[in-house]
Amino acid sequence: MTVNAHHVRYLIIGGGLAGSAAAQSIRLRDPHGSIVIVGQEINRPYNRPPVCREYLHRKTGRAAMMTVPLGWYSDNQVQLITGQRVTRIDTTRHLVAIDTGAEIQFDKALIATGVSPRPLHVPGGDLPNVYDLRTIEDAEQILNGIDKARTEGRPHNPENRSGPRGRVAVVGGGLLGVELCETFARLGLRVDLFVAHPHPWHRFAGPHVGGAITRHLEAHDIRVHTQARIAQIQGDGRAQRILLDDQRSFDTDFVVTAIGTVLNRDILRGTPINAEKQLLVDQHCRTNVQDIFAAGDCAAVFDPLFAKHRVLEHWHSARLLGSIAGANMAGDPTAVYDIVNQYTTEVFGIAASVWGESKHATHRHTRLLPSGGMLEFGVSDANKVSQTLALAAPREYESVLHDLVQSRTDVTGKIEQLIDPETPLNDLLK
Ligand SMILES: Cc1cc2nc3c(=O)[nH]c(=O)nc-3n(C[C@H](O)[C@H](O)[C@H](O)COP(=O)(O)OP(=O)(O)OC[C@H]3O[C@@H](n4cnc5c(N)ncnc54)[C@H](O)[C@@H]3O)c2cc1C
Repeated sequence: MTVNAHHVRYLIIGGGLAGSAAAQSIRLRDPHGSIVIVGQEINRPYNRPPVCREYLHRKTGRAAMMTVPLGWYSDNQVQLITGQRVTRIDTTRHLVAIDTGAEIQFDKALIATGVSPRPLHVPGGDLPNVYDLRTIEDAEQILNGIDKARTEGRPHNPENRSGPRGRVAVVGGGLLGVELCETFARLGLRVDLFVAHPHPWHRFAGPHVGGAITRHLEAHDIRVHTQARIAQIQGDGRAQRILLDDQRSFDTDFVVTAIGTVLNRDILRGTPINAEKQLLVDQHCRTNVQDIFAAGDCAAVFDPLFAKHRVLEHWHSARLLGSIAGANMAGDPTAVYDIVNQYTTEVFGIAASVWGESKHATHRHTRLLPSGGMLEFGVSDANKVSQTLALAAPREYESVLHDLVQSRTDVTGKIEQLIDPETPLNDLLK
């Protein structure tokens, strides 16, 4: 589809989850205002969580991952322009430039451009079989890497050359890196996980949970290398070996990095829009510039619970922020961000849920559950609960773990009760 210079009421920059949630939210409130979404990917807005699971397992196709059914855009008079990129925003003239040379004028604009994978800046980090994962196209490249490794790669056991083949090095022990380990192991690859910290999930979990998840991964044949700093990726035109800064080296057939994300800043150049690590928005998803909103992974929303701007970067948050932004763009200021954020993950059958803000958690306390799971409480310097985490825990704990964060419960003198599995957690809320 080509873009002619025209004027729209609502312009959404970025065709992802937050962008499509915003369009839905606008349409609920304004049945007629013109809406245009400009997205640089060729795909319609889709959900990314299945990209590292079902899609790599070839258990789902693109159509099943879309955020809204195909007919939704035309049924709701939303013009979706894919494969085109906004290159510049002129906040004074309320106008954007597209990479085709066209321009669009808007009344209200939403920046929902997401983030990009943080590149691994080491020698060899740019070899062709060093991948990262954000898009379906990235997943396609990884699928090629998997196929090649399984057919032409190194045998798992060098003494059994007719046995299974294919090794992958996963760099990064966050949510995505750990989830990828499971996917690759289930696809029959030998997996080495390299984590720069003392344990995986270092950004949001303490040593007890980190140790438990390490053992769980190892029990499923993942080789977890902690305190592992990549010095170099070596190979003859292709990655064949990971070299750590302590000189240990590990053979591999390909590498996947998952070491965090960076904001796509280029369209902000020359604008007065406030950004730190992410674009700063208030509880209504408004930037500091009138009529310009931001939502999703590219935004740091003001969270009154922690009295600061927070980068959330999770599926639920991106959808919610998109929806709040859309409501406010359409003139509904009652839509505000005022919840306890939560995210979940699952690794080899064990589920983890997290509520709240890990950066405020200077102390962590663990309650071991009779069922074998554990709860972890991140407590701030002021002795207030900032974050709670449930690992392999019964669902009945969810509401109290949410409430402990929501009320920023003061646990001064109550740590014994916090970790004692016999003390009902609701008692701490009183
Ligand atoms: C592989 C993977 C697995 C994940 N799994 C989970 C999970 O299990 N649970 C969870 O909570 N979260 C998960 N996430 C995170 C979650 O998917 C994101 O928080 C969510 O997709 C963010 O939505 P968004 O709309 O902000 O960004 P995106 O979905 O990234 O959409 C932004 C879009 O804007 C486009 N764009 C960028 N710049 C421009 C421009 N200048 N012009 C036009 N378009 C532009 C981008 O190409 C992109 O298509 C996962 C993420 C990944 C990558």
